[in-house]
Amino acid sequence: MTLIDTDAAPFWKTKTLDEMSPEEWESLCDGCGRCCLVKLQDEDSEAIAYTDIGCKLLNEFTCACRDYPNRQAHVPDCVRLTPDVVREIGWLPPSCAYRLVAEGRDLYWWHHLLSGDRDTIHQAGVSVRGRVAGSEEDIPFADFLDHMVRWPLRLPKGAAHPGGPRRRR
Ligand code: SF4
Ligand code: SF4
Repeated sequence: MTLIDTDAAPFWKTKTLDEMSPEEWESLCDGCGRCCLVKLQDEDSEAIAYTDIGCKLLNEFTCACRDYPNRQAHVPDCVRLTPDVVREIGWLPPSCAYRLVAEGRDLYWWHHLLSGDRDTIHQAGVSVRGRVAGSEEDIPFADFLDHMVRWPLRLPKGAAHPGGPRRRR
C-alpha cells in the first residue's frame, strides 16, 4: 500500500522554476491572459506600457491562446517564458504565477492550483475577461497609444484575499 502525504508542500513551494517538470511548469500558468495584451515600448527609455488590446490569438472570453502549440508560427514575437526569461523581463504582471514563484512568494487563493477551479481567476477579476477593448487586428495601429492602461500591472483591489470583490460573468 502506498501512503500519500496529503500535508506535503506543493511543488511551487518546494521547487525553483528551474526544477519544475514540463507539466508542473505549464500548470503554473494561471490563465489570466494579461501577458497576451499588446505592449508598447518607448524607443528612448525602453519602458514597456500595456494596452487593453489583445494579441490576435487571444480568446477574450477564455483568456487563453487560440493556438498555443503553434503560437510562434502565427505570432513570431510571442515571448516563450523560461525561468531565465521570467527573471529577466520586468513586465510580467504582479499577479503572474511565474513572477510570484521567482520572487519566492506564494500563489493567490484564486489560482486554480489552490482553488481547484479555473473560473476563480475570472471571478476574482484578475483575468482580462471583459477588459479587452479589441484585437490588434481590429484596432488601427494609429490608435494604439490611446489604449495604454495601467491595470495589467496592478492587482485588482481586494483580489489578494478570499472574500474580496468578485466579478461574475
Ligand atoms: S501573466 Fe503569467 S500567469 Fe498570467 S497568463 Fe501570462 S504567463 Fe500565465
Ligand atoms: S500568441 Fe498566444 S500566447 Fe502568445 S501573446 Fe498571443 S495569445 Fe498570448
